[in-house]
Amino acid sequence: MNIKSIKGMNDIFEPQIHLWRFVEDTVRKHFETFGYTEIKTPIVEYTVLFTRSVGDSTDIVQKEMYTFNDRNDESLTLRPEGTAPVVRAMLEQNLLNTDPTQKLFYWGPMFRYERPQKGRYRQFFQYGIETFGISSPRIDAELISMLVSLYEKLDLKELTVRLGSVGCQTCRPVYKKKITSLLQPSIKILCEDCQKRLDKNPLRVFDCKNPTCKEVAAVLPSMLDFLCEPCHQHFDQVRDDLVRLKSTFVVDKTLVRGLDYYTRTVFEITTTQLGAQSAIGGGGRYDKLVEELGGPVTPAIGYAGGVERLVLLLGETAHQHKPNLKVFFAVPDKKGQDLAFTLAHALRLKNIFCEIDYNDRSLKSQMKRAHRLQAENVLILGGSEIDQGSAVLRNMSTKVQENIEIGNLEEELLRRLS
Ligand code: AMP
Repeated sequence: MNIKSIKGMNDIFEPQIHLWRFVEDTVRKHFETFGYTEIKTPIVEYTVLFTRSVGDSTDIVQKEMYTFNDRNDESLTLRPEGTAPVVRAMLEQNLLNTDPTQKLFYWGPMFRYERPQKGRYRQFFQYGIETFGISSPRIDAELISMLVSLYEKLDLKELTVRLGSVGCQTCRPVYKKKITSLLQPSIKILCEDCQKRLDKNPLRVFDCKNPTCKEVAAVLPSMLDFLCEPCHQHFDQVRDDLVRLKSTFVVDKTLVRGLDYYTRTVFEITTTQLGAQSAIGGGGRYDKLVEELGGPVTPAIGYAGGVERLVLLLGETAHQHKPNLKVFFAVPDKKGQDLAFTLAHALRLKNIFCEIDYNDRSLKSQMKRAHRLQAENVLILGGSEIDQGSAVLRNMSTKVQENIEIGNLEEELLRRLS
């Protein structure tokens, strides 16, 4: 029987895995420099966490969640996103009462039942940040600039920061009412999803890919023209602070984002280099979510980006991140293997990456394997070398060979390879 992986869920291995590690290390260090600490939450949560926070009318909740009943008949869901679990954890662990200002980041797999294609998978990894307890627009600009500088560090090209605002509980209902009434006459030509959502979430029409819905949405007024005074001021200060930090952005009048919990600032970072899946990541403020999940009034803002998309963009550089094999022991006979066996162990304990052949292959095929593993050096160590008292160290790129005294092998290799 040929057992395959689940559609849209990938194995990650050489050489890409090295790039994954590099990306994770870079992301982690960058966030830590800006004062974020890591949180790890479970991959599975009670379904109600997502229906209540992400929102009933969203694609995620309506079509994409991996939901099942466990043996106790409780409805569980593989997490489709990271914010709701982090908020749940903050409340459950009482962290906001200890210190209402919290800055956290996460890294881990998310699950959405989407149609898989390049850059879109059913299991995908996200790195994300969440900031709690800061209502100042300063943090919005700091966070966006932090992300731009992360992507600059990773040497990503052709990025655009798209910035918008979805207003608050005062101004958004007015806007929603306005566009609902403007959409009513066109209701019959909208796609089925937009028709269904018109009551609950008419803003979703801006996210719809259907060409007719796009045409209809294009002539609707923008949320930005309906912002109340405090939302307007907030938006203006985010823009001013971004300019102050020299972060370039464009104001996107139709940016609404797919999740229900956003308030005020929303933003997306896109690239022209990924075809249809152009979003590198997105985020925004969610000043009401903590309260809605039963916590204290807590302003918050967050962002999530997709790891696979970064890896796709940086794919060509994967081999650069492979750890270098310092030495391969070519051991043509038992005597050589016996000595190299303990020597390799001793060097590994000193953090020298080395490899040895246990398959009694010919010297020629061991050399071939050393070549394939891109060993920097090969130490040829057989009975005759041992009898003569010196082994041969061959530099695989310069082809220079030198003899090393058997009695001093460990020290000499350490000196040369550390
Ligand atoms: P979202 O939570 O939908 O705003 O997604 C944030 C980011 O996660 C997106 O911009 C993508 O980079 C990434 N992402 C979302 N869904 C997928 C998916 N199905 N496969 C791969 N990456 C994804």
